[in-house]
Amino acid sequence: MSRARAEIDLSAIADNLKFIKSKSTAQVLAVVKADAYGHGLLPVAIAAQAAGADWLGTALLEEAITLRNGGITKPILAWLTPPGEDFKTAIKLDIDLSISSIEVLSEILTAGQSLNKKPRVHIEVDTGMSRGGVAEDWKQFFSEIAKVVEKIEVVGIWSHFARADEPGEKMNEEQIALFSNRVDDLSKVGISPKYLHIANSAAALTNKSSHKNIIRWGIGLYGLSPDVNNLGDSKSLTLHPAMRLYAKLQLVKSVKAGVTVGYGATAKTKVDTKLGVVTLGYADGIPRNASNLAGVFVAGSRAPLIGRVSMDQFVVDLGIDSLAKTGDEVIVFGDGSKGEYTIDEWAKACGTINYEIVTRIGSRVPRIYPRE
Ligand SMILES: *Cc1c(COP(=O)(O)O)cnc(C)c1O
Repeated sequence: MSRARAEIDLSAIADNLKFIKSKSTAQVLAVVKADAYGHGLLPVAIAAQAAGADWLGTALLEEAITLRNGGITKPILAWLTPPGEDFKTAIKLDIDLSISSIEVLSEILTAGQSLNKKPRVHIEVDTGMSRGGVAEDWKQFFSEIAKVVEKIEVVGIWSHFARADEPGEKMNEEQIALFSNRVDDLSKVGISPKYLHIANSAAALTNKSSHKNIIRWGIGLYGLSPDVNNLGDSKSLTLHPAMRLYAKLQLVKSVKAGVTVGYGATAKTKVDTKLGVVTLGYADGIPRNASNLAGVFVAGSRAPLIGRVSMDQFVVDLGIDSLAKTGDEVIVFGDGSKGEYTIDEWAKACGTINYEIVTRIGSRVPRIYPRE
Protein backbone atom coordinates (compact mmCIF):
# COMPACT_ATOMS: atom_id res chain seq x y z
CA MET A 1 0.00 0.00 0.00
CA SER A 2 0.93 3.63 -0.32
CA ARG A 3 2.15 5.90 2.47
CA ALA A 4 -1.31 6.41 3.92
CA ARG A 5 -4.97 5.94 3.17
CA ALA A 6 -8.36 6.51 4.76
CA GLU A 7 -10.65 3.54 4.28
CA ILE A 8 -14.30 4.51 4.24
CA ASP A 9 -16.92 1.88 4.98
CA LEU A 10 -19.92 2.92 2.89
CA SER A 11 -22.05 0.15 4.38
CA ALA A 12 -21.54 1.81 7.78
CA ILE A 13 -22.72 5.09 6.24
CA ALA A 14 -25.81 3.30 4.91
CA ASP A 15 -26.47 1.68 8.32
CA ASN A 16 -26.17 5.02 10.12
CA LEU A 17 -28.63 6.58 7.68
CA LYS A 18 -31.13 3.74 8.04
CA PHE A 19 -30.76 3.92 11.80
CA ILE A 20 -32.05 7.48 12.04
CA LYS A 21 -34.74 6.82 9.42
CA SER A 22 -36.02 4.05 11.70
CA LYS A 23 -36.15 6.42 14.69
CA SER A 24 -38.24 9.18 13.16
CA THR A 25 -41.08 9.90 10.81
CA ALA A 26 -39.26 13.04 9.64
CA GLN A 27 -37.40 13.09 6.37
CA VAL A 28 -33.64 12.81 6.66
CA LEU A 29 -31.19 15.23 5.09
CA ALA A 30 -27.72 13.72 4.88
CA VAL A 31 -25.20 16.46 5.68
CA VAL A 32 -22.22 16.04 3.35
CA LYS A 33 -20.49 19.41 3.70
CA ALA A 34 -16.71 19.64 4.01
CA ASP A 35 -16.09 16.68 1.72
CA ALA A 36 -18.60 14.66 3.73
CA TYR A 37 -16.76 15.40 6.98
CA GLY A 38 -13.59 14.21 5.26
CA HIS A 39 -15.12 10.93 4.04
CA GLY A 40 -15.45 11.94 0.36
CA LEU A 41 -18.37 14.03 -0.96
CA LEU A 42 -19.74 12.03 -3.87
CA PRO A 43 -19.20 8.46 -2.69
CA VAL A 44 -20.88 9.27 0.64
CA ALA A 45 -23.73 11.19 -1.00
CA ILE A 46 -24.40 8.34 -3.43
CA ALA A 47 -24.36 5.80 -0.59
CA ALA A 48 -26.65 7.97 1.55
CA GLN A 49 -29.09 8.50 -1.30
CA ALA A 50 -29.16 4.77 -2.01
CA ALA A 51 -29.78 4.05 1.68
CA GLY A 52 -32.84 6.30 1.73
CA ALA A 53 -31.70 9.86 2.39
CA ASP A 54 -34.53 12.19 1.38
CA TRP A 55 -32.26 15.23 1.03
CA LEU A 56 -28.61 16.06 0.74
CA GLY A 57 -27.24 19.14 2.47
CA THR A 58 -24.05 21.12 2.04
CA ALA A 59 -22.61 24.33 3.37
CA LEU A 60 -21.09 25.58 0.10
CA LEU A 61 -22.87 26.03 -3.17
CA GLU A 62 -19.89 24.48 -5.00
CA GLU A 63 -20.42 21.29 -2.99
CA ALA A 64 -24.10 21.23 -3.96
CA ILE A 65 -23.23 21.77 -7.63
CA THR A 66 -20.75 18.88 -7.48
CA LEU A 67 -23.50 16.68 -6.06
CA ARG A 68 -26.00 17.52 -8.77
CA ASN A 69 -23.44 17.18 -11.55
CA GLY A 70 -22.35 13.90 -9.94
CA GLY A 71 -25.80 12.40 -10.39
CA ILE A 72 -27.59 13.13 -7.10
CA THR A 73 -31.30 13.39 -7.91
CA LYS A 74 -32.76 14.05 -4.44
CA PRO A 75 -33.39 17.63 -3.29
CA ILE A 76 -30.20 19.41 -2.28
CA LEU A 77 -29.97 22.33 0.13
CA ALA A 78 -26.91 24.63 0.36
CA TRP A 79 -26.97 26.91 3.40
CA LEU A 80 -23.78 28.93 3.34
CA THR A 81 -24.63 31.28 0.53
CA PRO A 82 -23.16 34.77 0.84
CA PRO A 83 -23.86 37.43 -1.80
CA GLY A 84 -21.94 37.01 -5.05
CA GLU A 85 -22.43 33.26 -5.42
CA ASP A 86 -23.37 31.63 -8.71
CA PHE A 87 -27.09 31.58 -7.95
CA LYS A 88 -28.00 31.12 -11.62
CA THR A 89 -26.27 27.77 -11.76
CA ALA A 90 -27.90 26.82 -8.46
CA ILE A 91 -31.37 27.60 -9.77
CA LYS A 92 -30.71 25.84 -13.09
CA LEU A 93 -29.65 22.71 -11.19
CA ASP A 94 -32.65 22.79 -8.82
CA ILE A 95 -30.52 23.44 -5.78
CA ASP A 96 -32.42 24.83 -2.80
CA LEU A 97 -30.82 27.93 -1.31
CA SER A 98 -30.90 29.28 2.20
CA ILE A 99 -31.51 32.96 2.75
CA SER A 100 -31.03 35.06 5.82
CA SER A 101 -30.41 38.49 4.31
CA ILE A 102 -32.18 40.96 2.02
CA GLU A 103 -28.98 41.15 -0.05
CA VAL A 104 -29.02 37.45 -0.91
CA LEU A 105 -32.79 37.49 -1.43
CA SER A 106 -32.43 40.17 -4.07
CA GLU A 107 -29.55 38.42 -5.85
CA ILE A 108 -31.53 35.18 -5.93
CA LEU A 109 -34.57 37.02 -7.30
CA THR A 110 -32.50 38.59 -10.05
CA ALA A 111 -30.99 35.24 -10.97
CA GLY A 112 -34.42 33.60 -11.02
CA GLN A 113 -35.90 36.33 -13.21
CA SER A 114 -33.07 36.08 -15.73
CA LEU A 115 -33.77 32.35 -16.06
CA ASN A 116 -37.52 32.73 -15.91
CA LYS A 117 -37.52 30.08 -13.19
CA LYS A 118 -38.66 30.25 -9.57
CA PRO A 119 -35.79 29.80 -7.12
CA ARG A 120 -36.43 27.36 -4.26
CA VAL A 121 -35.47 28.88 -0.92
CA HIS A 122 -35.38 28.00 2.76
CA ILE A 123 -35.52 30.95 5.16
CA GLU A 124 -33.08 30.67 8.01
CA VAL A 125 -34.14 32.24 11.30
CA ASP A 126 -31.77 32.89 14.16
CA THR A 127 -33.28 31.44 17.34
CA GLY A 128 -30.28 31.87 19.59
CA MET A 129 -27.16 30.62 17.83
CA SER A 130 -26.37 34.18 16.63
CA ARG A 131 -24.61 32.85 13.56
CA GLY A 132 -26.61 32.61 10.30
CA GLY A 133 -30.30 33.46 10.16
CA VAL A 134 -32.60 36.43 10.33
CA ALA A 135 -32.60 37.92 13.83
CA GLU A 136 -33.97 41.25 15.10
CA ASP A 137 -34.91 42.48 11.65
CA TRP A 138 -37.20 39.50 10.91
CA LYS A 139 -40.35 41.65 10.67
CA GLN A 140 -38.85 43.70 7.91
CA PHE A 141 -37.38 40.61 6.29
CA PHE A 142 -40.70 38.74 6.30
CA SER A 143 -42.49 41.70 4.76
CA GLU A 144 -39.86 41.87 2.00
CA ILE A 145 -40.37 38.16 1.34
CA ALA A 146 -44.14 38.62 1.28
CA LYS A 147 -43.76 41.24 -1.47
CA VAL A 148 -41.97 38.83 -3.80
CA VAL A 149 -43.72 35.61 -2.90
CA GLU A 150 -44.92 34.95 -6.46
CA LYS A 151 -41.36 35.05 -7.72
CA ILE A 152 -39.86 32.48 -5.37
CA GLU A 153 -40.89 29.15 -3.94
CA VAL A 154 -40.45 29.21 -0.16
CA VAL A 155 -39.82 25.52 0.47
CA GLY A 156 -38.71 25.68 4.07
CA ILE A 157 -37.99 27.63 7.20
CA TRP A 158 -35.19 26.46 9.40
CA SER A 159 -32.94 27.20 12.32
CA HIS A 160 -30.00 25.67 14.19
CA PHE A 161 -29.42 24.69 17.82
CA ALA A 162 -26.53 26.04 19.86
CA ARG A 163 -26.64 23.41 22.63
CA ALA A 164 -28.39 20.34 21.24
CA ASP A 165 -25.62 18.16 22.67
CA GLU A 166 -26.75 19.26 26.15
CA PRO A 167 -30.32 17.98 26.01
CA GLY A 168 -31.15 19.20 29.53
CA GLU A 169 -30.40 22.83 28.71
CA LYS A 170 -33.51 24.96 28.63
CA MET A 171 -32.05 26.95 25.74
CA ASN A 172 -33.14 24.09 23.47
CA GLU A 173 -36.80 24.53 24.39
CA GLU A 174 -36.46 28.29 24.06
CA GLN A 175 -35.07 27.91 20.56
CA ILE A 176 -37.90 25.55 19.57
CA ALA A 177 -40.46 28.02 20.95
CA LEU A 178 -38.94 30.97 19.13
CA PHE A 179 -38.77 28.90 15.95
CA SER A 180 -42.52 28.19 16.23
CA ASN A 181 -43.19 31.90 16.71
CA ARG A 182 -41.27 32.78 13.57
CA VAL A 183 -43.14 30.08 11.63
CA ASP A 184 -46.44 31.61 12.84
CA ASP A 185 -45.31 35.10 11.92
CA LEU A 186 -44.41 33.97 8.46
CA SER A 187 -47.78 32.30 8.02
CA LYS A 188 -49.42 35.63 8.96
CA VAL A 189 -47.88 37.20 5.88
CA GLY A 190 -49.21 34.32 3.81
CA ILE A 191 -46.17 32.05 3.68
CA SER A 192 -46.48 28.52 5.01
CA PRO A 193 -43.57 26.46 3.76
CA LYS A 194 -43.91 22.72 3.51
CA TYR A 195 -40.74 21.97 5.48
CA LEU A 196 -39.69 23.07 8.95
CA HIS A 197 -36.31 21.92 10.20
CA ILE A 198 -34.09 22.59 13.17
CA ALA A 199 -32.66 19.24 14.35
CA ASN A 200 -29.01 18.29 13.90
CA SER A 201 -27.67 14.86 14.95
CA ALA A 202 -27.69 15.60 18.67
CA ALA A 203 -31.29 16.85 18.60
CA ALA A 204 -32.31 13.95 16.37
CA LEU A 205 -30.96 11.52 18.95
CA THR A 206 -32.30 13.19 22.08
CA ASN A 207 -35.35 15.33 21.35
CA LYS A 208 -38.25 14.04 19.27
CA SER A 209 -40.13 17.33 19.52
CA SER A 210 -37.34 18.93 17.50
CA HIS A 211 -37.66 16.59 14.51
CA LYS A 212 -40.27 18.65 12.60
CA ASN A 213 -40.27 17.61 8.90
CA ILE A 214 -36.56 17.13 8.28
CA ILE A 215 -33.64 15.98 10.42
CA ARG A 216 -30.24 17.28 9.31
CA TRP A 217 -28.13 14.21 10.05
CA GLY A 218 -24.44 15.07 10.05
CA ILE A 219 -21.96 13.54 12.46
CA GLY A 220 -24.29 10.60 13.10
CA LEU A 221 -24.11 9.67 9.41
CA TYR A 222 -20.40 9.06 9.91
CA GLY A 223 -21.04 6.88 12.95
CA LEU A 224 -19.72 9.36 15.48
CA SER A 225 -21.33 10.72 18.61
CA PRO A 226 -22.26 14.43 18.65
CA ASP A 227 -20.93 14.57 22.20
CA VAL A 228 -19.20 11.63 23.80
CA ASN A 229 -19.51 12.98 27.34
CA ASN A 230 -23.18 13.94 27.28
CA LEU A 231 -24.66 11.46 24.82
CA GLY A 232 -22.32 8.47 25.01
CA ASP A 233 -19.96 7.05 22.40
CA SER A 234 -20.67 5.52 19.01
CA LYS A 235 -21.09 2.06 20.46
CA SER A 236 -23.65 3.07 23.08
CA LEU A 237 -25.58 4.96 20.39
CA THR A 238 -25.34 1.92 18.05
CA LEU A 239 -23.62 4.00 15.38
CA HIS A 240 -20.84 2.64 13.19
CA PRO A 241 -17.76 4.83 12.63
CA ALA A 242 -17.03 4.76 8.90
CA MET A 243 -13.44 5.97 8.67
CA ARG A 244 -10.29 3.98 9.41
CA LEU A 245 -6.98 5.73 8.85
CA TYR A 246 -3.88 3.78 7.88
CA ALA A 247 -0.23 4.79 7.54
CA LYS A 248 3.19 3.15 7.50
CA LEU A 249 6.26 2.96 9.66
CA GLN A 250 8.87 4.72 7.59
CA LEU A 251 11.49 3.56 10.10
CA VAL A 252 11.80 1.51 13.25
CA LYS A 253 14.86 2.02 15.43
CA SER A 254 16.18 1.26 18.89
CA VAL A 255 17.06 4.13 21.20
CA LYS A 256 18.42 4.46 24.72
CA ALA A 257 16.62 5.76 27.78
CA GLY A 258 16.88 9.52 28.07
CA VAL A 259 16.86 10.55 24.39
CA THR A 260 14.57 13.41 23.48
CA VAL A 261 12.12 13.10 20.60
CA GLY A 262 11.07 15.68 18.02
CA TYR A 263 11.04 19.46 17.71
CA GLY A 264 11.48 21.26 20.98
CA ALA A 265 12.73 18.06 22.60
CA THR A 266 9.45 18.04 24.49
CA ALA A 267 9.48 14.30 25.23
CA LYS A 268 12.15 11.98 26.56
CA THR A 269 12.30 8.19 26.55
CA LYS A 270 12.10 6.79 30.05
CA VAL A 271 13.70 3.43 29.25
CA ASP A 272 15.50 1.79 26.34
CA THR A 273 12.88 1.35 23.67
CA LYS A 274 12.06 1.19 19.98
CA LEU A 275 10.63 4.18 18.16
CA GLY A 276 8.51 4.06 15.01
CA VAL A 277 8.31 6.95 12.56
CA VAL A 278 4.76 7.23 11.18
CA THR A 279 4.17 8.68 7.70
CA LEU A 280 1.54 11.28 8.55
CA GLY A 281 1.82 14.77 9.97
CA TYR A 282 -0.06 17.97 10.50
CA ALA A 283 -0.05 18.57 6.72
CA ASP A 284 -2.32 15.53 6.61
CA GLY A 285 -4.57 16.79 9.38
CA ILE A 286 -2.96 15.14 12.39
CA PRO A 287 -3.17 17.95 14.97
CA ARG A 288 0.25 19.17 16.09
CA ASN A 289 -0.81 19.20 19.71
CA ALA A 290 -1.80 15.53 19.79
CA SER A 291 -0.63 13.98 23.05
CA ASN A 292 0.38 10.45 24.01
CA LEU A 293 -3.26 9.69 24.84
CA ALA A 294 -3.37 8.69 21.16
CA GLY A 295 -0.97 6.83 18.87
CA VAL A 296 -1.12 3.94 16.43
CA PHE A 297 -1.93 0.23 16.44
CA VAL A 298 0.81 -1.94 14.98
CA ALA A 299 2.05 -5.51 15.37
CA GLY A 300 -0.83 -6.31 17.68
CA SER A 301 -0.31 -3.46 20.16
CA ARG A 302 -1.00 0.16 20.75
CA ALA A 303 2.03 2.42 20.47
CA PRO A 304 1.52 5.89 22.00
CA LEU A 305 2.62 9.05 20.27
CA ILE A 306 5.81 10.60 21.66
CA GLY A 307 6.92 14.19 21.08
CA ARG A 308 5.41 16.79 18.80
CA VAL A 309 3.74 15.97 15.50
CA SER A 310 5.80 17.29 12.54
CA MET A 311 4.48 18.40 9.16
CA ASP A 312 4.76 15.00 7.48
CA GLN A 313 5.50 12.56 10.27
CA PHE A 314 5.18 11.75 13.92
CA VAL A 315 6.92 9.31 16.23
CA VAL A 316 5.43 6.55 18.37
CA ASP A 317 6.97 4.63 21.25
CA LEU A 318 6.75 0.97 20.21
CA GLY A 319 8.30 -0.45 23.38
CA ILE A 320 11.43 -2.58 23.59
CA ASP A 321 9.64 -5.87 22.86
CA SER A 322 7.69 -4.70 19.83
CA LEU A 323 7.85 -6.89 16.74
CA ALA A 324 7.01 -3.94 14.48
CA LYS A 325 9.38 -3.52 11.53
CA THR A 326 10.28 -0.76 9.13
CA GLY A 327 7.59 -0.74 6.43
CA ASP A 328 4.80 -2.13 8.56
CA GLU A 329 1.29 -0.81 8.14
CA VAL A 330 -0.23 0.93 11.16
CA ILE A 331 -3.81 1.83 12.02
CA VAL A 332 -3.93 5.39 13.25
CA PHE A 333 -7.60 5.36 14.18
CA GLY A 334 -10.83 3.54 13.47
CA ASP A 335 -13.82 2.17 15.33
CA GLY A 336 -11.58 0.41 17.83
CA SER A 337 -12.70 -3.09 16.86
CA LYS A 338 -9.22 -4.21 15.84
CA GLY A 339 -7.68 -2.74 18.98
CA GLU A 340 -6.82 0.58 17.41
CA TYR A 341 -7.27 4.00 18.96
CA THR A 342 -10.71 5.40 18.24
CA ILE A 343 -11.47 8.74 16.61
CA ASP A 344 -12.87 9.84 19.97
CA GLU A 345 -9.59 8.95 21.70
CA TRP A 346 -7.68 11.01 19.13
CA ALA A 347 -10.08 13.91 19.68
CA LYS A 348 -9.48 13.78 23.42
CA ALA A 349 -5.71 13.56 22.92
CA CYS A 350 -5.86 16.73 20.81
CA GLY A 351 -8.29 18.65 23.00
CA THR A 352 -10.87 18.75 20.24
CA ILE A 353 -13.97 16.94 18.97
CA ASN A 354 -14.34 13.94 16.64
CA TYR A 355 -15.83 16.25 13.98
CA GLU A 356 -12.51 18.05 13.64
CA ILE A 357 -10.38 14.90 13.58
CA VAL A 358 -12.11 13.36 10.56
CA THR A 359 -12.81 16.61 8.70
CA ARG A 360 -9.20 17.76 8.83
CA ILE A 361 -7.73 14.64 7.22
CA GLY A 362 -6.09 16.29 4.25
CA SER A 363 -6.27 15.86 0.52
CA ARG A 364 -2.85 14.12 0.43
CA VAL A 365 -4.53 11.10 2.01
CA PRO A 366 -6.46 9.09 -0.58
CA ARG A 367 -9.93 7.91 0.39
CA ILE A 368 -10.45 4.24 -0.44
CA TYR A 369 -13.83 2.52 -0.58
CA PRO A 370 -13.30 -1.20 -0.11
CA ARG A 371 -16.14 -3.39 -1.24
CA GLU A 372 -17.62 -5.77 1.27
C1 LIG B 1 -23.12 20.87 10.03
C2 LIG B 1 -24.56 21.18 10.16
C3 LIG B 1 -25.48 20.20 10.57
C4 LIG B 1 -25.06 18.84 11.02
O1 LIG B 1 -24.66 18.89 12.37
P1 LIG B 1 -24.25 17.54 13.11
O2 LIG B 1 -23.99 17.98 14.50
O3 LIG B 1 -23.03 17.05 12.42
O4 LIG B 1 -25.39 16.63 12.95
C5 LIG B 1 -26.82 20.51 10.56
N1 LIG B 1 -27.24 21.74 10.19
C6 LIG B 1 -26.39 22.71 9.82
C7 LIG B 1 -26.91 24.03 9.43
C8 LIG B 1 -25.02 22.47 9.81
O5 LIG B 1 -24.17 23.45 9.44
